[in-house]
Amino acid sequence: MPRPDASARTDAAARAASDAGRSPDTDAGALDPPPAPALDSFGPSVERLGAPPGTAFSFAVQDGTLGFQLAGANLWIDTLTDPRGRAYYADGLPVGWPSALYGPGSPQAFMNDATVALGIVPGEWTATLLASTGGAPISLVAQRDHDGMFHGGVLDLYLYVARGGVTDPDRGVTIAPGNVVAEYAEGIDRFFDKLSRLVGIDRGEVTVIAVDDRYAAIDGDAEEDAAFGASQAGLGPGYHAMLVRGGYERGWAGITPAAPAEQLAGAPRSTVLMDVRGRDYFDFTLLHELGHVTGLYHPSDVYVEAGVSHFLHDPLGDTSECTRTTALMGETFPACFEESNLMASYAMTRPPTLSPTQLAIFRSSAVYRPYTADRPVVRSLRIGGPGLRPPPPDVAARWTHCTPPG
Ligand SMILES: [Zn+2]
Repeated sequence: MPRPDASARTDAAARAASDAGRSPDTDAGALDPPPAPALDSFGPSVERLGAPPGTAFSFAVQDGTLGFQLAGANLWIDTLTDPRGRAYYADGLPVGWPSALYGPGSPQAFMNDATVALGIVPGEWTATLLASTGGAPISLVAQRDHDGMFHGGVLDLYLYVARGGVTDPDRGVTIAPGNVVAEYAEGIDRFFDKLSRLVGIDRGEVTVIAVDDRYAAIDGDAEEDAAFGASQAGLGPGYHAMLVRGGYERGWAGITPAAPAEQLAGAPRSTVLMDVRGRDYFDFTLLHELGHVTGLYHPSDVYVEAGVSHFLHDPLGDTSECTRTTALMGETFPACFEESNLMASYAMTRPPTLSPTQLAIFRSSAVYRPYTADRPVVRSLRIGGPGLRPPPPDVAARWTHCTPPG
């Protein structure tokens, strides 16, 4: 198994690990912390299916699977059918997919209302490809526990930084593997707090990984594509994100390679990129990009052609469809930030929300390690928040503004 060439757990992660099940050793009368919930012995898995010789193949989905995706190069799914003969994908797209919307970055169950409604039936699934993968292998990336229900879990964060550091020109500070946890401690804490309260997934381990200095600056499409594959094979499951410079110049504070991304360390489209200058909004941006990684789209995107606004909406029926625009820093955005959805293309100042279908997709992903079924089933977790307070325009455009994936 390849090893990261440098890694360091955060103090907080080490503290959490040492706190688990340990009684306070000094404060007489202090309450014992509740024991850390046990993790399900199944959890996320990666099965190498190999390269199908033609355009048809089948694979087994185990009992208790919450969701899965297929990862690999040159992978263009035409049809995907469950053991009961029900179509998940037809004509290259999930069933019920909006005709105007670009398709998922990787074939995945689930992606929209229609596929969420089908559930996951264990047994032999069959798929056909639009063309052979040309010898490229396919992996089945699945999330699973003992009863196929969501009981919460923990997310491990892998934070990549160039070995020689990335300089934040606004602050004049160079972020390097040795100081990234200290510099971003508050953002990391707030990220996990929001994830826990919004999705029901708690803080896991934070690991810093030093990478080659060629990943420090994203100056063009080629550098961006290469950086999307920077995560190190053999790690994970978890969330792989890299601090870089150059994102603001390219129009993003954070960007994901695809929705969904390949939830597989070492895969070419597996690593989210975060501009080093977004430190004050690190929590929002990191959580928004994780939403993309699990398969969520922006509820609304807009592009302007010959003075006319054209809207694209996500494939979910329970997110709002914004049809108004606002201009920020010379660009046109959907005026949706007031609705506080985590997946709005730029962020808001009150706690984010996710719709029930968004939550179902997020929780079916393979990025986290699930708790055992001894924990209560988590059906819905929403967090409230203070009233509307739109961010100032110049700040708003820098928040989680990220270009539509795909
Ligand atoms: Zn986005």
